[in-house]
Amino acid sequence: MTKRKKKIIITVDGYSSCGKSTFAKAIAGELGYIYIDSGAMYRAVTLFALRRGLAGGGTADEGRIVEALPEIDITFRPDRQTGFPVTYLNGEMVEREIRDREVSENVSPVSTIARVRARLVELQRALGAGGGVVMDGRDIGTVVFPDAELKIFMTASPEVRAQRRYLELVSKGLPADFEAVMRNISERDRIDSSREASPLRRADDAVILDNSDMTPAEQMVWFRELYKRRMNES
Ligand code: C5P
Repeated sequence: MTKRKKKIIITVDGYSSCGKSTFAKAIAGELGYIYIDSGAMYRAVTLFALRRGLAGGGTADEGRIVEALPEIDITFRPDRQTGFPVTYLNGEMVEREIRDREVSENVSPVSTIARVRARLVELQRALGAGGGVVMDGRDIGTVVFPDAELKIFMTASPEVRAQRRYLELVSKGLPADFEAVMRNISERDRIDSSREASPLRRADDAVILDNSDMTPAEQMVWFRELYKRRMNES
């Protein structure tokens, strides 16, 4: 009888627009794991705050957002075509809205709020509890799942990241301005890395993947090697 492979937790952290979600989805698809986009949760809280006038112009009203937390319900349901999770905010499908520029420009200030983080970390842990998950974000390997079996930290040059994000917006028919994208990426990097609550940093045991000059297919070759080695070690 062949031994059933253990279902582990794989964390993918890193800077904005490194291709984390594309990579994490590809891994999940290959292993038959669940993909969880933790950034989508911070984006959903930000969308809620924007609609209520609790955030805007790159600032967030901490007290009122914390007060409104019990009213925010975030769930995921699998997309009928791709099977990947789609984000719902209080029962409304918001997958497209949470990618809007206004959300991108306000999400990092909202994400600095410790009580928002505590709430979302709790949800992330519950979703990943059974293993067999790939979760991407900023603090997944350091805070959410410090004992995860396989941790990856992704990085790429800011120019490459801005170019990819710009092309992604263009391909989706969304308004795109390269300089604005570049500014947004640098600003999010700055806030995410310098905030007090769970700043973006590489976990000591995370393996670095700099994909500046790698295609998605090359990244998967790299991952398969790493995964094979790790599973043989355990
Ligand atoms: O991954 P994505 O770029 O969609 O994340 C949007 C923002 O959400 C990040 O810039 C960061 O401010 C916040 N975030 C976070 N912790 C996570 C995931 C995302 O603070 N685990």
